[in-house]
Amino acid sequence: MTRTDLASIRDGSSYPSARPSSREEIARSVARARSAQPGWSALGFDWRSQMCRRFAHHVLERRAEVIDLLVQETGRSPTECLMADGIAVIVDYAKAAIRAARRALAPERVRLSPIDWPGKKIVVEAVPRGVVGIIAPWNYPFGNFIKSLFPALLAGNGVVLKPSEYAPRTGAWIHEQCADLFPEGLVGLAEGGAEAGEALIDAGVDAIVFTGSVRTGRKVAARAGERLIPCSLELGGKDAAIVLADCDLERTVAGIAQWGFHNAGQNCAAIERVYVEDRIADMFVSGIGRLAGRLRVAGDAEAFDMGPIQNEAQLAIVEAHVEDARARGAIVVAGGERTHRGLGYRPTVLDRCTQEMRIVREETFGPVLPVIRVQDAEAAITLANDSTYGLNGSVWTRDLARGEAIARRLDVGVALVNNHAITGALAEVPWTGVKDTGPGVAASRHSYPTFVRRRSVLTDRAKQPDPFWYPADDDLARFGQAVVERALGSTRAFVRLAGLATARMRTVRAFAKEALKPD
Ligand code: NAD
Repeated sequence: MTRTDLASIRDGSSYPSARPSSREEIARSVARARSAQPGWSALGFDWRSQMCRRFAHHVLERRAEVIDLLVQETGRSPTECLMADGIAVIVDYAKAAIRAARRALAPERVRLSPIDWPGKKIVVEAVPRGVVGIIAPWNYPFGNFIKSLFPALLAGNGVVLKPSEYAPRTGAWIHEQCADLFPEGLVGLAEGGAEAGEALIDAGVDAIVFTGSVRTGRKVAARAGERLIPCSLELGGKDAAIVLADCDLERTVAGIAQWGFHNAGQNCAAIERVYVEDRIADMFVSGIGRLAGRLRVAGDAEAFDMGPIQNEAQLAIVEAHVEDARARGAIVVAGGERTHRGLGYRPTVLDRCTQEMRIVREETFGPVLPVIRVQDAEAAITLANDSTYGLNGSVWTRDLARGEAIARRLDVGVALVNNHAITGALAEVPWTGVKDTGPGVAASRHSYPTFVRRRSVLTDRAKQPDPFWYPADDDLARFGQAVVERALGSTRAFVRLAGLATARMRTVRAFAKEALKPD
């Protein structure tokens, strides 16, 4: 792509679109992944792990290519692309994903009482689903795929990637690298918007990982429900941070600015509401307002700390939320306007916000920190939980025990003290939410129900039949009665049961022997 193209993207006039895949092409991608999958699975876990490690090294070696694409698709600086999308840490991420997979995929031996279940051995195994479709949003065009690509492949699945139509190139690049490294057809690509996502679900994938908006998540869940396939949903957020009067104010201002403005707030776990105790609110607001004013933004400065909003439609939402807050009496302490050029929006701090404002209730997905002043921690907890979302929630305080106790009272999937959102970089920690954020679990061994089904394998080495088999005679009734009495603590029933079991086994065998006699 030329520099002119790049400039026009950031002006919002156009971005390069991929040619949408037809339904037939998507069906063929799924079919190819399905053919390649059994061979991939048969390679075994150690081999698959080695290939995933190689993939991570390969990405690092070619980081310049993918960073270039990310710069084009997001407008972020090369440094932010290296750090924010997980490229810098991909080798460690792969190692941690492999550790998580080893635990999730290990066969599980179920211990049985040899008296009640003589001769029986049971193993619960993890079996790959088959082909997993991964549908991603545009905000982290690389990282949103990687968190699910590793577990899907480590579990022995084929995969088809569906990038966002707003950031199609990075996903296509991941697909090209996979095509170079993994067996032919194992990782496929479906390009385009809603129709491509729908076609992917309809094309016979065995599971769907969806990351995106609540609105689309509901549609994807319904479609996957029609097909009765598992569907992991990682949806929107409206994360709250609670700032207590005893916090380390310098560190807190720096941390909240980081996680409010990171990726220009286009982060499902961006801090989008700050509840501050009255006693320190003036100091907090003036500090964070001044810090916001010092950040350099793309569209205002050549070298910048914060990139632009990725697309015009998203910028319109940010502006509408800020306007609503202004109209209802919020005070703009910093920002509140577009940059000189392009789709940048200046880091914004709004003071005196109230719970009914759109900026406090709806996902903004922009660099805006609304501050709500509260009397105390109890009021902050109540207001923080008054939300349809629940992804991350954080408490900022020097009293760590109290901070943990408060964090545990937040209705969220990830609760933090003195930090926010960072667990997204850890492959062994579940990334999950409650309410409209969706029930999906990304990363960690707990994400594996999407990637594997369980198979229970029982082998019976007992020489005698089980005592409860046919015929249903009086001894069977006595046997059942003894089981109940033993459960209620009777030791005599315990002894009686041993004799009854032996008698019943003889009866069952004789019953069958009789049946086998020739007429
Ligand atoms: P979106 O829902 O508009 O699109 C997401 C993906 O779904 C895209 O690839 C899109 O083409 C596809 N799609 C659209 N309609 C579809 C349909 N009917 N069937 C199948 N696929 C369809 O979301 P977006 O605007 O790209 O992303 C922003 C949202 O993603 C925000 O709400 C953000 O919070 C959320 N997000 C959540 C997480 C998380 O981990 N919880 C992470 C990143 C982003």
